[in-house]
Amino acid sequence: MSDLEGKYAKFLEESLKIQRICSVDALLGWDMETQMPEKGASARADVSGQIAALVHDMATGAAYTDALEAVLAEVDALDVDRATIVRDAKEELEKTRKFDPSFVKELATLTSNAHGVWAAAKDSNDLASFLPCLTRIVAMKRQEAAIIGFAASPYDALLDEYDPGLTTASVERTLGELSSFLAPFVDRILASPHTVDARLARFALPVDRQRDVNVALSRELGFDLLGGCFGEAPHPFMTRIHPGDVRIATRYVQDDALNAVFSTLHETGHAFYEQGLPEAHYGTSGGEAASFGLHESQSRLWENLIGRSLPFWKWCAPFLKRHQAFPADLSAEDVWRSLNAVARTPIRTDADEVTYNLHICPRFEIERALIEGTLEVADVRDAWHDGMKKHLGIVPKNDTEGVLQDSHWAAGYFGYFPSYAIGNIYAAQLGEAMRRTLPGLDTMLAQGLFTLPLGWLRGAVHRHGGTLEADEIVRRATGSGLSAQPFMRYIESKYTAIYKL
Ligand SMILES: [Zn+2]
Repeated sequence: MSDLEGKYAKFLEESLKIQRICSVDALLGWDMETQMPEKGASARADVSGQIAALVHDMATGAAYTDALEAVLAEVDALDVDRATIVRDAKEELEKTRKFDPSFVKELATLTSNAHGVWAAAKDSNDLASFLPCLTRIVAMKRQEAAIIGFAASPYDALLDEYDPGLTTASVERTLGELSSFLAPFVDRILASPHTVDARLARFALPVDRQRDVNVALSRELGFDLLGGCFGEAPHPFMTRIHPGDVRIATRYVQDDALNAVFSTLHETGHAFYEQGLPEAHYGTSGGEAASFGLHESQSRLWENLIGRSLPFWKWCAPFLKRHQAFPADLSAEDVWRSLNAVARTPIRTDADEVTYNLHICPRFEIERALIEGTLEVADVRDAWHDGMKKHLGIVPKNDTEGVLQDSHWAAGYFGYFPSYAIGNIYAAQLGEAMRRTLPGLDTMLAQGLFTLPLGWLRGAVHRHGGTLEADEIVRRATGSGLSAQPFMRYIESKYTAIYKL
């Protein structure tokens, strides 16, 4: 082993030591949302705080930083992927060093505790009980933005955590472009004399049957169950403990069997990305997803572009029927049309493809204002109602269906919501490019042949991990960086046909 190879190996080993502690934290996170009893919350929050402090200590300690500096001194002699990884690690170290370990510990403890407070407040429609917690979190996130530093808005510093390169101004532009197309388009759809009945796709199925069929569906799509597993949680999610252990949590609704099917499609898309990351770079930024927006593009592509397409249902309806999980008298075409019904509804995660991005607009405006200090936490319900009215033309009937519906703010995830809109845009870009490369895509989907579409995503997106920026990955795969045009084309052509506009 050459001297430089030895130095890189040492850097990788020190990175992996930190990563292993993060694996423990991910496993605890999984446990918190799927298993942990209520009385375990407070002690668990202390554990999370201590782990965050330990990771901070290790990431700024001599063993890791000496190994990083040693390889950094010869970074130009490394191959391009590893040079990027080392430069990214240096940038991350500079950022980590700005934080006092006590700040990191306090924020982790606070957000871990907040999860239970938020969940109870949501269950009992009691916003007041969550507001003190939210006030402390907003204050700490504002402090975090100040510590990181920013040019124009403190919200820029938080956005950058999820989608590097995004700014408040660029998000405002992108969401503005989407909403000026979507808002009048929704009006046209809802004014159409041709209506679509969403109730056809709602049918009951015992939860035990749902469990079996969702695991079978995910495996059929290509989820590797030797390197992953399924669980249940009130809020569906996916997490990677390490490359051989990727987990999906789904929620089963007895009276609406396809609800879980769409969660499974979504989370399986996320899981594909994690199972396809370059394992050689595990422990470094190169072994991670390039951005949250790109991650979300993978889930939305399987959930919507594939999962809400007619060819997919030509395969999926008979597949579900074989598992006694689908009404015998319901056709693929009818369920497909029903699944694409457009309506102004209060819940983001239940929203159709056309109105979905309009749910991101009020969230962006509110969290930006909270972080910039132009909105008080006490006024968040009013802001929610105003935002929903402005962008969707509706007001939720209570806070459970309103400002309390999402877990993000309790977790401290300010700046995350725009990633969903970016994900929808990237998904449409990638979907168009996939279709160009695989002209027989519809036939494959109708026959349940998912190997080629998954393989295309593996080659175009997953294998790069974090060695390229998300926008560069999309540019190489599609010929263009972030562009809303393919998304708008996709929505317009699909829904013009469904609603006979
Ligand atoms: Zn997602």
